[in-house]
Amino acid sequence: MSRPVVVLAGGTGGAKLARGMLDVVGEDLVVVANTGDDVELYGGYVAPDPDLVTFWLADRIDARGWGLEGDTFHVMDGLRELGEEVWFNLGDRDLAVCLLRARRLAEGARLTEAIGEVAASLGVRARVLPMSDAPVRTRVKARDAWHDFQAFMIREGARGPVQDVAWDGLDDAAPPPEVLDALASARAIVIGPSNPVISIRPILEVPGMVDALRASEAKVVCVSPLVGGEVVKGPTGPFMAWAGFSLDAAGVVASYGGASLVDGVVCDEADAGHDLPVRQIDTLMADADARRRVAASALEFAEALAA
Ligand code: GDP
Repeated sequence: MSRPVVVLAGGTGGAKLARGMLDVVGEDLVVVANTGDDVELYGGYVAPDPDLVTFWLADRIDARGWGLEGDTFHVMDGLRELGEEVWFNLGDRDLAVCLLRARRLAEGARLTEAIGEVAASLGVRARVLPMSDAPVRTRVKARDAWHDFQAFMIREGARGPVQDVAWDGLDDAAPPPEVLDALASARAIVIGPSNPVISIRPILEVPGMVDALRASEAKVVCVSPLVGGEVVKGPTGPFMAWAGFSLDAAGVVASYGGASLVDGVVCDEADAGHDLPVRQIDTLMADADARRRVAASALEFAEALAA
């Protein structure tokens, strides 16, 4: 394996970029995924962002945008029949992944190992790593009450305004050694077009992560999650509003700490407003060709900045 290309990712946007990057660099790809959304449910350990990335990389993602293609939902139906309130839907095979992971963690495996084993079992050639082995949990305050992240998204319908966001567990969190190794030897680091506040920020909040990113010889470029000035999917708007950042590439870069972390910006705007180099391209990744094109462009940009 040559020097890795590291992609920081949440779910949808980061996962699509990672899938494009897999076409470009194959097994040199290392994805560092947000685990702030993880939740223990139905006896399983659910890791929404690492699994979204893994299912995308395995070409097994369902068209609905989450879960495994063609999965069935018999266990959820069974739970409902028994009177359980099923607010979080998991397909049967998806649940199998989560049950196996819970068992591996109970046996003493690190989250890095448990996530890596799922990726390997599904035939993924690249590596998918959690941002931390120790748990970090994103919590959201809305309508004067605190919610676990998934409960906010699903039970509360992601209804803002967002009043506050907190990350529990940061004191004990650290990037796994595999993440530190990948960053130290990386030839490029790409912050994927995920929700800056709830998908990327938890990764950056892990103590030691930003230092490791800054210490890397590789340049750090970010791909803006805004396309034509709009959010493609999900509640990026209310979270950026809470964090006090504008909903444009400049706001996205500012949310990552500006030029203190980011060396270049890939977006469809002419100016990211930070005197940073900008690569202006169409960043919508609607199909495989577009995913590959955006990934290749971001990589080429990062390598050119390092030259
Ligand atoms: P979630 O955890 O599934 O909400 O996923 P993410 O945080 O990874 O992704 C949500 C963000 O991805 C939103 O801000 C979207 O605008 C962005 N996004 C989704 N698809 C695309 C795309 O094709 N291109 C770009 N540039 N951003 C995208």
